[in-house]
Amino acid sequence: MTALSTQTLQSAVPEHRLDAVARAAGRPCRLTVLGATGSIGTSTLDLVARNPEAFDVVAVTAHSNPAALADVARRHRAKIAVIGDEAHLPALREALGGSGIRVAAGDAALIEAASEPADCVMAAIVGAAGLRPTLAAVRQGTRVALANKECLVSAGDVFTSEVARCKTELLPVDSEHSAAFQALSGAKASSIEKITLTASGGPFRTWSAEQLKSATPEQALKHPNWSMGAKVTIDSATLMNKGLELIEAFHLFPVGVDALDCLVHPQSIVHCLVSYTDGSVLAQLAPPDMRTPIAVALAWPERMVAPTERLNLAALGQLTFEAADETRFPSLAIAKAAMRRGETAPAVLNAANEVAVQAFLARKIGFADIPSLVAETIELAEKSGLIAPAGTLETILATDGAARRLAEQGMQRYL
Ligand code: NAD
Ligand code: MG
Repeated sequence: MTALSTQTLQSAVPEHRLDAVARAAGRPCRLTVLGATGSIGTSTLDLVARNPEAFDVVAVTAHSNPAALADVARRHRAKIAVIGDEAHLPALREALGGSGIRVAAGDAALIEAASEPADCVMAAIVGAAGLRPTLAAVRQGTRVALANKECLVSAGDVFTSEVARCKTELLPVDSEHSAAFQALSGAKASSIEKITLTASGGPFRTWSAEQLKSATPEQALKHPNWSMGAKVTIDSATLMNKGLELIEAFHLFPVGVDALDCLVHPQSIVHCLVSYTDGSVLAQLAPPDMRTPIAVALAWPERMVAPTERLNLAALGQLTFEAADETRFPSLAIAKAAMRRGETAPAVLNAANEVAVQAFLARKIGFADIPSLVAETIELAEKSGLIAPAGTLETILATDGAARRLAEQGMQRYL
């Protein structure tokens, strides 16, 4: 996918350079895990623990839980442990005293950790905070297994052009994109009619607009199928997650906005469907366990064993599909509009959504206020000229900051 050629999709991934290097040398894959204490980080390290001879853990990072980070670093014999929030450095140092593991803190240290020589970096920090460290890995030419969708949403063009310039490999971890990557199977863009991402519909799939107004964080955090971090779980409840994923797909698979679609599938077994010009539809199926897409990315182009429960279709009985309701879940329509608007609109969308989700989790705003605040922020950003060509990373980070301030101001009306 690296070259993101308009001619080929999956086959645009160059030869399996790094992987081949590691295998030829007969040594384990050197792996760095950014966001090692989170849901994706934990699932990644679970696979590592089950295949100890296949991996050497280089660096592990976290934001503000030094005890959990120290535990992970010791268990996986990491060489480096980095905590994002510098206030926690003394605690991390103490927890790792005598272990021989190097410790550091702060944004620059996260970037350094991501730049350490490695064969693969799992990018599993949540939110736009993952942008700089993930780009640092790309710039080292290290293969990136990308869970952090916000990177591609906020900075898609900058990110993918860096991937191409640095001739590295970008492997999607998000389950729908991993599914698309597998179902594309080297197809030419001209043979693809549609890529359809599925959505579970979240915990409120059957709720009325009236009920949605009083949805609480506890209710929104109870995802029916997936166990994930808080931010992506709330995004799944609003369907903003599917909107962000359409933008992510737009950058990963160059088929154009009109060829991207989504469909609600409450069982979360089919993750993506690729429709070809000859009428064939290839789908990828797996139980809702992120260890499968993580394993696909870690082992690619080979396969590795993952402990995911095996599918039992007879026991499941049926798989159902329905159209997404953009009236009850306006976040999806707002994200699609930002994708079509282009330039820095998706960066504004992402920043406003991060602010709104945090505010909802802190009980400052209601569930239905999330899309309203995001839409208002985008409107204000457009009026104030903030939506403009997304030339460089600096432009995007400045836009991200300005959009957060607009959203914080806008939020005052809801308090
Ligand atoms: P999480 O909240 O469980 O974990 C986030 C990790 O990032 C933690 O290790 C945390 O310490 C670290 N982190 C948080 N803020 C940080 C900051 N400011 N600086 C540095 N580190 C920071 O999140 P998650 O569910 O594991 O999701 C990670 C990413 O993967 C997100 O972008 C999410 O959208 C994506 N994703 C997750 C899932 C899933 O099943 N969890 C599925 C698809 C995609
Ligand atoms: Mg997903």
